[in-house]
Amino acid sequence: MPKLDATTEPENNDFSHVSSVRGQLFRYIVSSIIGILFLFSLTIIGLTQSGAGKLIVENAQEITKALAQQSTLALLTESTENSEAALQQVISFPDVVGAGLVNLEGSILDWQGEPQGKLFFSDLDWTSLSEEEKIVYESDDGFWHIAHHVVLDGNNDDDSQQTELLELTDQKLGFAIVTFSKDNLFRIQNDLVITISITALVAIIGLPLIISWVVARLLAPLGELSHVMAYNKDKGEHLSAEVKGAREFQQIAASFNAMIETLDEQDDKLRNHRDQLEAEVNIRTRELVVARDAAMTSNRYKSEFLTNVTHELRTPIQSIIGYVELVKEELENEELLNIHNDLDKVTRNAERLYSLINNVLDLSKIEAGKMDIHYTDIRISTLLKDLQDAVSPLIPQNNNILSIQLECEDITVNMDREKVLQILINLLSNACKFTKDGQITLIIEKQHHHLNFKVMDTGIGIPADRLETVFNKFQQIDGSETRTVGGTGLGLAISRHFCDLMQAQLTAESQIGKGSCFALSIPV
Ligand code: ADP
Repeated sequence: MPKLDATTEPENNDFSHVSSVRGQLFRYIVSSIIGILFLFSLTIIGLTQSGAGKLIVENAQEITKALAQQSTLALLTESTENSEAALQQVISFPDVVGAGLVNLEGSILDWQGEPQGKLFFSDLDWTSLSEEEKIVYESDDGFWHIAHHVVLDGNNDDDSQQTELLELTDQKLGFAIVTFSKDNLFRIQNDLVITISITALVAIIGLPLIISWVVARLLAPLGELSHVMAYNKDKGEHLSAEVKGAREFQQIAASFNAMIETLDEQDDKLRNHRDQLEAEVNIRTRELVVARDAAMTSNRYKSEFLTNVTHELRTPIQSIIGYVELVKEELENEELLNIHNDLDKVTRNAERLYSLINNVLDLSKIEAGKMDIHYTDIRISTLLKDLQDAVSPLIPQNNNILSIQLECEDITVNMDREKVLQILINLLSNACKFTKDGQITLIIEKQHHHLNFKVMDTGIGIPADRLETVFNKFQQIDGSETRTVGGTGLGLAISRHFCDLMQAQLTAESQIGKGSCFALSIPV
Protein backbone atom coordinates (compact mmCIF):
# COMPACT_ATOMS: atom_id res chain seq x y z
CA MET A 1 0.00 0.00 0.00
CA PRO A 2 1.49 3.44 -0.87
CA LYS A 3 2.56 5.72 1.95
CA LEU A 4 2.73 9.51 2.09
CA ASP A 5 5.86 11.52 2.59
CA ALA A 6 5.07 13.71 5.63
CA THR A 7 6.60 16.76 3.94
CA THR A 8 4.00 16.80 1.15
CA GLU A 9 1.53 19.59 1.88
CA PRO A 10 -2.21 18.74 1.58
CA GLU A 11 -4.39 21.23 -0.21
CA ASN A 12 -7.54 22.91 1.13
CA ASN A 13 -6.89 22.62 4.86
CA ASP A 14 -10.30 23.76 6.05
CA PHE A 15 -9.34 23.49 9.72
CA SER A 16 -6.37 25.83 9.63
CA HIS A 17 -8.20 28.34 11.84
CA VAL A 18 -8.61 25.76 14.65
CA SER A 19 -5.63 25.42 16.99
CA SER A 20 -3.82 22.07 16.93
CA VAL A 21 -3.79 19.45 19.72
CA ARG A 22 -0.14 20.29 20.16
CA GLY A 23 -0.87 24.00 20.61
CA GLN A 24 -3.74 23.38 22.99
CA LEU A 25 -1.81 20.83 25.06
CA PHE A 26 1.15 23.18 25.18
CA ARG A 27 -0.99 26.06 26.39
CA TYR A 28 -2.79 24.00 29.04
CA ILE A 29 0.38 22.42 30.43
CA VAL A 30 2.42 25.64 30.46
CA SER A 31 -0.34 27.70 32.08
CA SER A 32 -0.97 24.98 34.67
CA ILE A 33 2.72 24.71 35.54
CA ILE A 34 3.13 28.48 35.76
CA GLY A 35 0.06 28.66 38.01
CA ILE A 36 1.38 25.88 40.25
CA LEU A 37 4.82 27.54 40.39
CA PHE A 38 3.26 30.84 41.36
CA LEU A 39 1.20 29.30 44.16
CA PHE A 40 4.18 27.24 45.29
CA SER A 41 6.38 30.37 45.44
CA LEU A 42 3.78 32.31 47.41
CA THR A 43 3.42 29.41 49.86
CA ILE A 44 7.17 29.08 50.30
CA ILE A 45 7.58 32.84 50.83
CA GLY A 46 4.69 32.92 53.31
CA LEU A 47 5.87 29.88 55.24
CA THR A 48 9.47 31.03 55.33
CA GLN A 49 8.49 34.51 56.41
CA SER A 50 6.28 33.37 59.26
CA GLY A 51 8.70 30.56 60.29
CA ALA A 52 11.74 32.84 60.31
CA GLY A 53 9.83 35.60 62.14
CA LYS A 54 8.64 33.13 64.74
CA LEU A 55 12.20 31.82 65.29
CA ILE A 56 13.66 35.30 65.67
CA VAL A 57 10.92 36.33 68.13
CA GLU A 58 11.44 33.14 70.19
CA ASN A 59 15.17 33.78 70.25
CA ALA A 60 14.56 37.43 71.23
CA GLN A 61 12.27 36.37 74.06
CA GLU A 62 14.94 34.03 75.38
CA ILE A 63 17.53 36.82 75.28
CA THR A 64 15.15 39.23 77.03
CA LYS A 65 14.28 36.62 79.62
CA ALA A 66 18.00 36.03 80.27
CA LEU A 67 18.52 39.80 80.64
CA ALA A 68 15.57 39.97 83.06
CA GLN A 69 17.12 37.21 85.16
CA GLN A 70 20.45 39.04 85.26
CA SER A 71 18.87 42.39 86.12
CA THR A 72 17.33 41.64 89.52
CA LEU A 73 20.16 43.19 91.48
CA ALA A 74 20.38 46.29 89.32
CA LEU A 75 16.65 47.02 89.78
CA LEU A 76 16.78 46.16 93.49
CA THR A 77 19.64 48.54 94.06
CA GLU A 78 18.55 50.89 91.27
CA SER A 79 22.19 51.12 90.29
CA THR A 80 23.40 51.23 86.64
CA GLU A 81 26.68 49.72 87.70
CA ASN A 82 24.95 46.39 88.20
CA SER A 83 23.18 46.56 84.85
CA GLU A 84 25.82 47.85 82.48
CA ALA A 85 27.67 44.61 81.91
CA ALA A 86 24.47 42.66 81.27
CA LEU A 87 23.13 45.28 78.85
CA GLN A 88 26.47 45.45 77.01
CA GLN A 89 26.41 41.71 76.63
CA VAL A 90 22.82 41.75 75.28
CA ILE A 91 23.37 44.41 72.64
CA SER A 92 26.32 42.44 71.31
CA PHE A 93 23.86 39.77 70.12
CA PRO A 94 23.00 39.86 66.43
CA ASP A 95 19.74 41.72 65.64
CA VAL A 96 19.74 43.41 69.11
CA VAL A 97 19.92 47.17 68.61
CA GLY A 98 19.08 48.39 72.15
CA ALA A 99 18.42 47.16 75.68
CA GLY A 100 17.46 48.71 78.99
CA LEU A 101 15.88 48.35 82.40
CA VAL A 102 12.68 50.04 83.59
CA ASN A 103 11.19 50.06 87.06
CA LEU A 104 7.51 49.43 87.76
CA GLU A 105 6.62 53.11 87.50
CA GLY A 106 8.13 53.30 83.99
CA SER A 107 11.30 55.25 84.79
CA ILE A 108 14.20 54.01 82.69
CA LEU A 109 17.04 52.97 84.94
CA ASP A 110 19.55 52.33 82.23
CA TRP A 111 19.51 52.09 78.40
CA GLN A 112 22.24 50.92 76.03
CA GLY A 113 22.30 51.06 72.17
CA GLU A 114 19.82 52.60 69.75
CA PRO A 115 17.05 54.68 71.41
CA GLN A 116 14.02 53.36 69.47
CA GLY A 117 12.90 50.98 72.25
CA LYS A 118 13.47 53.63 74.84
CA LEU A 119 11.26 56.09 72.91
CA PHE A 120 8.64 53.43 72.25
CA PHE A 121 8.28 52.42 75.91
CA SER A 122 8.39 55.99 77.27
CA ASP A 123 4.80 56.50 75.99
CA LEU A 124 3.39 53.38 77.69
CA ASP A 125 1.29 53.15 80.86
CA TRP A 126 3.66 50.94 82.88
CA THR A 127 1.37 50.43 85.84
CA SER A 128 -1.12 48.52 83.66
CA LEU A 129 1.65 46.36 82.18
CA SER A 130 3.13 45.42 85.46
CA GLU A 131 0.77 42.45 85.83
CA GLU A 132 2.00 40.69 82.67
CA GLU A 133 5.14 38.64 82.70
CA LYS A 134 6.41 39.38 79.23
CA ILE A 135 5.14 41.46 76.36
CA VAL A 136 6.13 41.55 72.72
CA TYR A 137 5.52 44.68 70.72
CA GLU A 138 5.99 44.95 67.04
CA SER A 139 6.59 48.48 65.82
CA ASP A 140 5.90 49.68 62.28
CA ASP A 141 9.40 50.91 61.72
CA GLY A 142 10.96 47.42 61.49
CA PHE A 143 11.62 46.54 65.20
CA TRP A 144 10.39 44.11 67.79
CA HIS A 145 10.35 45.55 71.33
CA ILE A 146 10.25 42.88 74.00
CA ALA A 147 9.68 43.56 77.70
CA HIS A 148 10.12 40.90 80.35
CA HIS A 149 9.34 41.20 84.06
CA VAL A 150 12.26 41.24 86.37
CA VAL A 151 11.08 39.17 89.30
CA LEU A 152 12.70 38.46 92.59
CA ASP A 153 12.20 34.72 92.26
CA GLY A 154 12.90 32.33 95.12
CA ASN A 155 13.33 29.40 92.69
CA ASN A 156 15.75 31.23 90.55
CA ASP A 157 19.18 29.67 91.05
CA ASP A 158 21.07 32.77 90.03
CA ASP A 159 19.33 35.02 92.45
CA SER A 160 19.04 32.59 95.38
CA GLN A 161 21.54 34.46 97.44
CA GLN A 162 19.86 37.79 97.10
CA THR A 163 16.46 36.16 97.78
CA GLU A 164 17.71 34.68 100.93
CA LEU A 165 19.33 37.96 101.95
CA LEU A 166 16.30 40.09 101.47
CA GLU A 167 13.79 37.41 102.37
CA LEU A 168 11.57 38.52 99.59
CA THR A 169 10.26 36.16 96.89
CA ASP A 170 8.24 36.56 93.61
CA GLN A 171 8.30 40.28 93.91
CA LYS A 172 8.12 42.18 90.60
CA LEU A 173 10.86 44.78 90.37
CA GLY A 174 10.52 46.15 86.86
CA PHE A 175 11.14 45.21 83.24
CA ALA A 176 14.07 44.21 81.11
CA ILE A 177 13.58 45.65 77.63
CA VAL A 178 15.32 44.59 74.42
CA THR A 179 14.81 46.07 70.92
CA PHE A 180 15.43 43.71 67.99
CA SER A 181 15.87 44.81 64.39
CA LYS A 182 13.88 43.04 61.64
CA ASP A 183 16.62 43.74 59.09
CA ASN A 184 17.75 40.14 59.06
CA LEU A 185 14.21 38.93 58.47
CA PHE A 186 13.78 41.39 55.62
CA ARG A 187 17.09 40.28 54.16
CA ILE A 188 16.03 36.64 54.32
CA GLN A 189 12.72 37.56 52.67
CA ASN A 190 14.43 39.55 49.92
CA ASP A 191 16.90 36.78 49.25
CA LEU A 192 14.05 34.31 49.10
CA VAL A 193 11.98 36.43 46.71
CA ILE A 194 14.97 36.99 44.45
CA THR A 195 15.88 33.30 44.45
CA ILE A 196 12.31 32.21 43.74
CA SER A 197 11.87 34.88 41.05
CA ILE A 198 15.03 33.78 39.28
CA THR A 199 13.96 30.13 39.55
CA ALA A 200 10.48 30.99 38.23
CA LEU A 201 11.94 33.03 35.36
CA VAL A 202 14.22 30.20 34.37
CA ALA A 203 11.25 27.81 34.63
CA ILE A 204 8.99 30.09 32.57
CA ILE A 205 11.55 30.33 29.81
CA GLY A 206 12.87 26.79 29.98
CA LEU A 207 9.68 24.86 30.69
CA PRO A 208 7.77 25.87 27.54
CA LEU A 209 10.72 24.85 25.42
CA ILE A 210 10.95 21.48 27.13
CA ILE A 211 7.17 20.97 27.12
CA SER A 212 6.92 22.05 23.49
CA TRP A 213 9.59 19.56 22.53
CA VAL A 214 7.98 16.75 24.56
CA VAL A 215 4.48 17.49 23.23
CA ALA A 216 5.77 17.73 19.66
CA ARG A 217 7.50 14.38 19.98
CA LEU A 218 4.47 12.74 21.57
CA LEU A 219 1.99 14.07 19.03
CA ALA A 220 4.13 13.74 15.90
CA PRO A 221 2.44 10.43 14.85
CA LEU A 222 -0.99 12.00 15.26
CA GLY A 223 0.09 14.96 13.12
CA GLU A 224 1.36 12.62 10.40
CA LEU A 225 -1.87 10.62 10.53
CA SER A 226 -3.99 13.76 10.17
CA HIS A 227 -1.70 14.87 7.32
CA VAL A 228 -2.24 11.57 5.48
CA MET A 229 -6.01 11.80 6.01
CA ALA A 230 -6.15 15.37 4.68
CA TYR A 231 -4.03 14.38 1.67
CA ASN A 232 -6.29 11.40 0.91
CA LYS A 233 -9.35 13.62 1.17
CA ASP A 234 -7.95 16.36 -1.10
CA LYS A 235 -6.38 14.12 -3.73
CA GLY A 236 -8.87 11.25 -3.58
CA GLU A 237 -5.97 8.87 -2.85
CA HIS A 238 -5.91 5.79 -0.62
CA LEU A 239 -2.54 6.21 1.10
CA SER A 240 -1.95 4.41 4.40
CA ALA A 241 -0.38 5.91 7.52
CA GLU A 242 2.72 4.77 9.35
CA VAL A 243 1.88 2.88 12.57
CA LYS A 244 4.03 4.48 15.29
CA GLY A 245 3.99 6.48 18.52
CA ALA A 246 1.91 5.84 21.63
CA ARG A 247 -0.40 2.81 21.82
CA GLU A 248 -3.57 4.81 21.14
CA PHE A 249 -2.02 6.48 18.08
CA GLN A 250 -0.88 3.11 16.77
CA GLN A 251 -4.40 1.75 17.24
CA ILE A 252 -5.88 4.72 15.35
CA ALA A 253 -3.35 4.40 12.52
CA ALA A 254 -3.94 0.64 12.28
CA SER A 255 -7.72 1.14 12.12
CA PHE A 256 -7.28 3.85 9.51
CA ASN A 257 -5.07 1.57 7.40
CA ALA A 258 -7.61 -1.25 7.69
CA MET A 259 -10.32 1.16 6.53
CA ILE A 260 -8.19 2.24 3.58
CA GLU A 261 -7.57 -1.40 2.66
CA THR A 262 -11.31 -2.10 2.73
CA LEU A 263 -11.89 0.98 0.59
CA ASP A 264 -9.25 -0.20 -1.87
CA GLU A 265 -10.89 -3.61 -2.12
CA GLN A 266 -14.29 -2.04 -2.62
CA ASP A 267 -12.83 0.31 -5.21
CA ASP A 268 -11.33 -2.64 -7.08
CA LYS A 269 -14.65 -4.46 -7.00
CA LEU A 270 -16.47 -1.37 -8.20
CA ARG A 271 -13.95 -0.83 -10.98
CA ASN A 272 -14.32 -4.45 -12.11
CA HIS A 273 -18.06 -4.12 -11.95
CA ARG A 274 -17.99 -0.90 -13.93
CA ASP A 275 -15.70 -2.44 -16.56
CA GLN A 276 -18.03 -5.42 -16.87
CA LEU A 277 -21.03 -3.14 -17.12
CA GLU A 278 -19.32 -0.96 -19.70
CA ALA A 279 -18.42 -4.03 -21.75
CA GLU A 280 -21.98 -5.28 -21.52
CA VAL A 281 -23.38 -1.88 -22.40
CA ASN A 282 -21.06 -1.72 -25.41
CA ILE A 283 -22.19 -5.14 -26.59
CA ARG A 284 -25.84 -4.26 -26.05
CA THR A 285 -25.39 -0.88 -27.73
CA ARG A 286 -23.84 -2.54 -30.77
CA GLU A 287 -26.68 -5.05 -30.85
CA LEU A 288 -29.20 -2.26 -30.50
CA VAL A 289 -27.58 -0.24 -33.26
CA VAL A 290 -27.72 -3.26 -35.54
CA ALA A 291 -31.33 -3.95 -34.54
CA ARG A 292 -32.27 -0.28 -34.94
CA ASP A 293 -30.63 -0.10 -38.36
CA ALA A 294 -32.40 -3.29 -39.38
CA ALA A 295 -35.71 -1.95 -38.06
CA MET A 296 -35.20 1.37 -39.80
CA THR A 297 -34.35 -0.35 -43.03
CA SER A 298 -37.32 -2.67 -42.82
CA ASN A 299 -39.56 0.24 -41.82
CA ARG A 300 -38.34 2.18 -44.83
CA TYR A 301 -38.93 -0.81 -47.08
CA LYS A 302 -42.38 -1.24 -45.54
CA SER A 303 -43.23 2.43 -46.01
CA GLU A 304 -41.90 2.43 -49.55
CA PHE A 305 -43.84 -0.73 -50.25
CA LEU A 306 -47.01 0.73 -48.73
CA THR A 307 -46.58 3.97 -50.64
CA ASN A 308 -46.17 2.10 -53.90
CA VAL A 309 -48.95 -0.36 -53.20
CA THR A 310 -51.45 2.26 -52.05
CA HIS A 311 -50.55 4.40 -55.01
CA GLU A 312 -51.18 1.46 -57.31
CA LEU A 313 -54.43 0.66 -55.47
CA ARG A 314 -55.81 4.20 -55.55
CA THR A 315 -55.77 4.49 -59.29
CA PRO A 316 -57.91 1.41 -60.08
CA ILE A 317 -60.33 2.20 -57.23
CA GLN A 318 -60.75 5.75 -58.49
CA SER A 319 -61.48 4.24 -61.91
CA ILE A 320 -63.98 1.80 -60.36
CA ILE A 321 -65.80 4.65 -58.58
CA GLY A 322 -65.81 6.74 -61.79
CA TYR A 323 -67.07 3.88 -63.99
CA VAL A 324 -69.74 2.92 -61.43
CA GLU A 325 -70.98 6.54 -61.49
CA LEU A 326 -71.11 6.43 -65.28
CA VAL A 327 -72.98 3.10 -65.26
CA LYS A 328 -75.39 4.49 -62.63
CA GLU A 329 -76.19 7.50 -64.83
CA GLU A 330 -76.84 5.24 -67.82
CA LEU A 331 -78.99 2.88 -65.71
CA GLU A 332 -80.97 5.79 -64.29
CA ASN A 333 -82.18 6.53 -67.81
CA GLU A 334 -83.31 2.96 -68.29
CA GLU A 335 -85.01 2.96 -64.84
CA LEU A 336 -83.31 -0.20 -63.57
CA LEU A 337 -83.50 0.87 -59.91
CA ASN A 338 -82.69 -2.47 -58.25
CA ILE A 339 -79.33 -2.62 -60.07
CA HIS A 340 -78.86 1.04 -59.20
CA ASN A 341 -79.07 0.21 -55.43
CA ASP A 342 -76.48 -2.51 -55.80
CA LEU A 343 -74.19 -0.11 -57.58
CA ASP A 344 -74.64 2.38 -54.68
CA LYS A 345 -73.24 -0.32 -52.38
CA VAL A 346 -70.32 -0.82 -54.77
CA THR A 347 -69.63 2.94 -54.64
CA ARG A 348 -69.81 3.08 -50.81
CA ASN A 349 -67.45 0.14 -50.41
CA ALA A 350 -65.11 1.50 -53.04
CA GLU A 351 -65.09 4.86 -51.21
CA ARG A 352 -64.36 3.18 -47.88
CA LEU A 353 -61.55 1.26 -49.52
CA TYR A 354 -60.31 4.49 -51.04
CA SER A 355 -60.34 6.27 -47.64
CA LEU A 356 -58.54 3.29 -46.05
CA ILE A 357 -55.87 3.40 -48.71
CA ASN A 358 -55.50 7.17 -48.17
CA ASN A 359 -55.10 6.66 -44.43
CA VAL A 360 -52.54 3.90 -44.89
CA LEU A 361 -50.70 6.12 -47.34
CA ASP A 362 -50.68 9.01 -44.85
CA LEU A 363 -49.44 6.73 -42.08
CA SER A 364 -46.67 5.28 -44.21
CA LYS A 365 -45.59 8.78 -45.19
CA ILE A 366 -45.52 9.88 -41.53
CA GLU A 367 -43.52 6.81 -40.51
CA ALA A 368 -41.11 7.28 -43.38
CA GLY A 369 -40.66 10.92 -42.29
CA LYS A 370 -41.92 12.12 -45.61
CA MET A 371 -44.98 14.00 -44.38
CA ASP A 372 -44.32 17.73 -44.83
CA ILE A 373 -46.14 20.75 -43.42
CA HIS A 374 -47.31 23.49 -45.79
CA TYR A 375 -48.31 26.70 -44.06
CA THR A 376 -50.77 29.02 -45.78
CA ASP A 377 -52.82 32.03 -44.68
CA ILE A 378 -56.47 31.16 -44.37
CA ARG A 379 -59.50 32.91 -42.87
CA ILE A 380 -61.31 30.96 -40.22
CA SER A 381 -64.66 31.39 -42.02
CA THR A 382 -63.21 29.87 -45.22
CA LEU A 383 -61.89 26.90 -43.27
CA LEU A 384 -65.29 26.43 -41.64
CA LYS A 385 -67.03 26.58 -45.01
CA ASP A 386 -64.79 23.84 -46.43
CA LEU A 387 -65.37 21.80 -43.29
CA GLN A 388 -69.15 22.16 -43.50
CA ASP A 389 -69.13 21.10 -47.18
CA ALA A 390 -67.16 17.99 -46.31
CA VAL A 391 -69.21 16.83 -43.30
CA SER A 392 -72.73 18.00 -44.22
CA PRO A 393 -73.61 14.61 -45.89
CA LEU A 394 -72.60 12.79 -42.66
CA ILE A 395 -74.72 14.82 -40.21
CA PRO A 396 -78.19 13.54 -41.16
CA GLN A 397 -77.03 9.89 -41.43
CA ASN A 398 -77.69 9.28 -37.72
CA ASN A 399 -80.25 12.04 -37.43
CA ASN A 400 -77.83 14.44 -35.67
CA ILE A 401 -77.75 18.25 -35.55
CA LEU A 402 -74.51 20.20 -36.03
CA SER A 403 -74.02 23.65 -34.55
CA ILE A 404 -70.90 25.72 -35.12
CA GLN A 405 -69.98 28.47 -32.63
CA LEU A 406 -67.27 30.94 -33.64
CA GLU A 407 -66.30 32.59 -30.37
CA CYS A 408 -63.56 34.81 -31.70
CA GLU A 409 -63.06 37.28 -34.50
CA ASP A 410 -62.96 35.92 -38.05
CA ILE A 411 -59.22 36.40 -38.43
CA THR A 412 -56.72 35.07 -40.94
CA VAL A 413 -54.39 32.47 -39.48
CA ASN A 414 -51.27 30.83 -40.79
CA MET A 415 -51.55 27.03 -40.69
CA ASP A 416 -51.42 23.83 -42.76
CA ARG A 417 -54.97 24.04 -44.12
CA GLU A 418 -55.15 20.47 -45.44
CA LYS A 419 -53.99 18.82 -42.25
CA VAL A 420 -56.17 20.92 -39.95
CA LEU A 421 -59.14 20.20 -42.23
CA GLN A 422 -58.35 16.47 -42.25
CA ILE A 423 -58.14 16.37 -38.41
CA LEU A 424 -61.43 18.26 -37.99
CA ILE A 425 -63.23 16.12 -40.64
CA ASN A 426 -62.00 13.02 -38.80
CA LEU A 427 -63.21 14.33 -35.41
CA LEU A 428 -66.61 15.40 -36.82
CA SER A 429 -67.10 12.19 -38.78
CA ASN A 430 -66.32 10.20 -35.57
CA ALA A 431 -68.86 12.32 -33.70
CA CYS A 432 -71.43 11.59 -36.44
CA LYS A 433 -70.64 7.86 -36.39
CA PHE A 434 -70.86 7.43 -32.61
CA THR A 435 -73.87 9.71 -31.93
CA LYS A 436 -77.49 8.93 -32.75
CA ASP A 437 -80.31 11.51 -32.66
CA GLY A 438 -77.93 13.85 -30.83
CA GLN A 439 -76.22 17.15 -30.90
CA ILE A 440 -72.77 17.77 -32.36
CA THR A 441 -71.13 21.09 -31.54
CA LEU A 442 -68.01 22.69 -32.98
CA ILE A 443 -66.62 25.61 -30.95
CA ILE A 444 -63.79 27.80 -32.26
CA GLU A 445 -62.03 30.20 -29.91
CA LYS A 446 -58.71 32.02 -29.73
CA GLN A 447 -56.59 32.01 -26.62
CA HIS A 448 -53.34 34.00 -26.68
CA HIS A 449 -51.34 32.43 -29.51
CA HIS A 450 -53.50 29.35 -29.95
CA LEU A 451 -56.56 28.66 -32.06
CA ASN A 452 -58.69 26.09 -30.23
CA PHE A 453 -61.31 23.78 -31.80
CA LYS A 454 -63.63 21.68 -29.66
CA VAL A 455 -65.72 18.91 -31.20
CA MET A 456 -68.42 17.82 -28.73
CA ASP A 457 -71.06 15.19 -29.16
CA THR A 458 -73.78 13.57 -27.09
CA GLY A 459 -72.92 10.06 -28.28
CA ILE A 460 -71.92 6.75 -26.72
CA GLY A 461 -68.72 8.07 -25.10
CA ILE A 462 -65.37 6.39 -24.50
CA PRO A 463 -64.38 4.47 -21.34
CA ALA A 464 -61.87 6.45 -19.21
CA ASP A 465 -59.18 3.75 -19.49
CA ARG A 466 -59.35 3.86 -23.31
CA LEU A 467 -59.15 7.64 -23.71
CA GLU A 468 -55.46 7.54 -24.61
CA THR A 469 -55.36 4.24 -26.48
CA VAL A 470 -57.85 5.49 -29.10
CA PHE A 471 -54.97 7.61 -30.41
CA ASN A 472 -52.95 4.46 -31.19
CA LYS A 473 -52.99 2.86 -34.62
CA PHE A 474 -55.81 0.43 -35.38
CA GLN A 475 -57.36 0.94 -31.92
CA GLN A 476 -61.14 0.86 -31.80
CA ILE A 477 -63.34 0.60 -28.71
CA ASP A 478 -65.49 -1.93 -30.52
CA GLY A 479 -63.10 -3.84 -32.74
CA SER A 480 -65.38 -6.86 -33.17
CA GLU A 481 -66.50 -8.33 -36.48
CA THR A 482 -70.12 -7.59 -35.55
CA ARG A 483 -69.68 -3.88 -34.98
CA THR A 484 -72.18 -1.66 -36.68
CA VAL A 485 -69.94 1.36 -37.24
CA GLY A 486 -67.30 1.34 -39.92
CA GLY A 487 -63.75 2.64 -39.62
CA THR A 488 -60.11 1.64 -39.70
CA GLY A 489 -58.83 2.86 -36.34
CA LEU A 490 -56.31 5.09 -38.07
CA GLY A 491 -58.02 8.52 -38.06
CA LEU A 492 -57.06 9.62 -34.53
CA ALA A 493 -53.55 8.15 -34.83
CA ILE A 494 -52.93 10.13 -38.01
CA SER A 495 -54.47 13.25 -36.42
CA ARG A 496 -52.11 12.96 -33.44
CA HIS A 497 -49.14 12.60 -35.81
CA PHE A 498 -50.25 15.70 -37.70
CA CYS A 499 -50.53 17.57 -34.39
CA ASP A 500 -46.99 16.52 -33.43
CA LEU A 501 -45.72 17.83 -36.77
CA MET A 502 -47.53 21.17 -36.25
CA GLN A 503 -46.67 21.38 -32.52
CA ALA A 504 -50.39 21.27 -31.85
CA GLN A 505 -52.25 19.40 -29.08
CA LEU A 506 -55.06 16.89 -29.46
CA THR A 507 -56.77 15.68 -26.27
CA ALA A 508 -59.96 13.84 -25.42
CA GLU A 509 -62.48 13.88 -22.56
CA SER A 510 -65.47 11.61 -22.40
CA GLN A 511 -68.19 10.11 -20.28
CA ILE A 512 -69.80 6.81 -21.17
CA GLY A 513 -73.36 7.33 -22.39
CA LYS A 514 -73.09 11.12 -22.22
CA GLY A 515 -70.72 12.03 -25.00
CA SER A 516 -67.16 12.98 -25.89
CA CYS A 517 -65.19 16.16 -26.39
CA PHE A 518 -62.06 16.28 -28.59
CA ALA A 519 -59.96 19.45 -28.23
CA LEU A 520 -57.48 20.59 -30.87
CA SER A 521 -55.15 23.48 -29.98
CA ILE A 522 -52.98 24.89 -32.79
CA PRO A 523 -50.27 27.52 -32.30
CA VAL A 524 -50.89 30.42 -34.69
P1 ADP B 1 -62.09 4.95 -36.73
O1 ADP B 1 -63.08 5.94 -36.36
O2 ADP B 1 -61.80 4.93 -38.18
O3 ADP B 1 -62.29 3.61 -36.15
P2 ADP B 1 -60.41 6.59 -35.25
O4 ADP B 1 -58.92 6.51 -35.00
O5 ADP B 1 -60.91 7.85 -35.79
O6 ADP B 1 -60.72 5.36 -36.13
O7 ADP B 1 -61.13 6.27 -33.91
C1 ADP B 1 -60.65 5.22 -33.11
C2 ADP B 1 -61.75 4.76 -32.16
O8 ADP B 1 -62.01 5.73 -31.19
C3 ADP B 1 -63.05 4.55 -32.80
O9 ADP B 1 -63.14 3.29 -33.43
C4 ADP B 1 -64.02 4.66 -31.66
O10 ADP B 1 -64.06 3.47 -30.97
C5 ADP B 1 -63.36 5.70 -30.79
N1 ADP B 1 -63.93 7.04 -31.01
C6 ADP B 1 -63.43 8.05 -31.75
N2 ADP B 1 -64.22 9.16 -31.67
C7 ADP B 1 -65.28 8.82 -30.91
C8 ADP B 1 -66.44 9.54 -30.46
N3 ADP B 1 -66.70 10.79 -30.82
N4 ADP B 1 -67.30 8.87 -29.68
C9 ADP B 1 -67.08 7.60 -29.30
N5 ADP B 1 -66.00 6.87 -29.66
C10 ADP B 1 -65.11 7.48 -30.47
